[in-house]
Amino acid sequence: MEINLELAQALYIGATVLFILTLGGLSHPESARKGNLYGMLGMAIAIIATLLGPHVTKNLFLIFILMALGGLIGIYLAKKVKMTHMPELVAILHSLVGIAAVLVGYVNFLDVTVSYQGVEKVIHEIEIYIGIFIGAVTFSGSVIAYGKLSRAISGNPLLLPGRHWLNLILIIVICIYGYIFVTTESVTAATTPLIIMTAVSLILGMHLIMAIGGADMPVAVSMLNSYSGWAASATGFMLGNDLLIVVGALVGSSGAILSYIMCQAMNRSFISVIAGGFGTDGPSANIVTSEDQGEVTAVEPEDVCELLLSSKKVMIIPGYGMAVAQAQHTVNKIVKLLQNRKIEVCFGIHPVAGRMPGHMNVLLAEARVPYDIVFEMDEINEDFPGVDTSIIIGANDIVNPSALDDPNSPIAGMPVLECWKGKTSIVLKRSMATGYAGIQNPLFFKDNTRMLFGDAKASMDSVLTALESS
Ligand code: NDP
Repeated sequence: MEINLELAQALYIGATVLFILTLGGLSHPESARKGNLYGMLGMAIAIIATLLGPHVTKNLFLIFILMALGGLIGIYLAKKVKMTHMPELVAILHSLVGIAAVLVGYVNFLDVTVSYQGVEKVIHEIEIYIGIFIGAVTFSGSVIAYGKLSRAISGNPLLLPGRHWLNLILIIVICIYGYIFVTTESVTAATTPLIIMTAVSLILGMHLIMAIGGADMPVAVSMLNSYSGWAASATGFMLGNDLLIVVGALVGSSGAILSYIMCQAMNRSFISVIAGGFGTDGPSANIVTSEDQGEVTAVEPEDVCELLLSSKKVMIIPGYGMAVAQAQHTVNKIVKLLQNRKIEVCFGIHPVAGRMPGHMNVLLAEARVPYDIVFEMDEINEDFPGVDTSIIIGANDIVNPSALDDPNSPIAGMPVLECWKGKTSIVLKRSMATGYAGIQNPLFFKDNTRMLFGDAKASMDSVLTALESS
């Protein structure tokens, strides 16, 4: 069965509308499932329209084999990956979009059946050059991001002397070879500048992400998400595929908007993110892995129960450890129990809590915590002086006062949840280990902080048992 160009285009428009609805749906946890369904439907329509459309005329069997293989790998990864390892998976998937753009660029350039003349040829070659450039930066940057997030390589920023100049020189080299590439007539001779540019772009992508450290990786990942969208869009231009252009632009622009919002939330400069490495100059690069800051006060679940029952207002601050422990369901039961006893409970969510944007919201939605008691950081940060007890569940960097007090800290300037301004803070974690940014947290040593050591789920279960029996 084959469909004509007009029908294929109509199906592409339908798929585009579904992708826009997907983005709308994903903007809120309540509508996120529906958003995902729109996305799956849109993608199915896009694949069918492409396969049956007039451009795919041969190798259908091979395409099916490869699609089945890719699909199986995708299903295996989706089933195997833990929620806490999603950012690594997302980073490595971005790298695939990048390498696809590079390969499509080379195939397009070396394709002898495609021959353009005059201005068209120049435009086509510029498309190829830019597509390969974005693809190579996305590929190598994403591979480094994967390495950093999975701890396969150090999370510390690599700050080479004169690194911004190095980036500038690499970009100038890419521009010069771009000129040589477009003005060279023979395909064989033009391949050399293309290969040199690819190598330089790969180095640029690696260097941009190597320079990012501390708690700044989330913004880098969302920026790479945006780059992967632009890489897909560039591929669309090379292949003359309108759907790929539009979808790539949707991913690229929504990724850029998310990065901008995250930069604002973390008090970082958007331009510096694009330039690679930010908030990491000078002494902040000296990551302190542990530091003796005095004594901590450890408590038992029964003490926490008493503190909670004597509170009028409780603030719950979830972090990465809650995701690891999968404590959200017990937390929801505790919330209900406290509410039944007329104690006001709310949640404070930091924009980079956990390991991916919206991570905590997803967990709380899964546990059916009502949305109206879940607040973003800037909505509730002023409220802490009126809070009797804050429970910090497996969070660390997002409640670290050194972000505000220590200009040399790797997270200096990042807004944090200022729970220490409340009456008492209870921190649930297993040890005195540091969080993602690798720095010790002075909150743990404050007079009004109590530490409840142990796995967050086990600790919350014990607190729940104590609450139920009192
Ligand atoms: P952190 O990584 O700062 O701290 C998590 C804490 O949870 C650790 O101190 C750990 O201590 C504790 N923990 C781990 N497992 C358990 C468990 N089973 N039970 C109890 N506690 C546990 O997390 P935050 O959420 O505070 O901050 C997020 C960090 O991740 C930020 O630095 C952010 O920049 C970064 N990041 C965020 C991304 C995003 O998009 N949100 C993406 C990439 C990075 P212990 O081992 O002692 O138990």
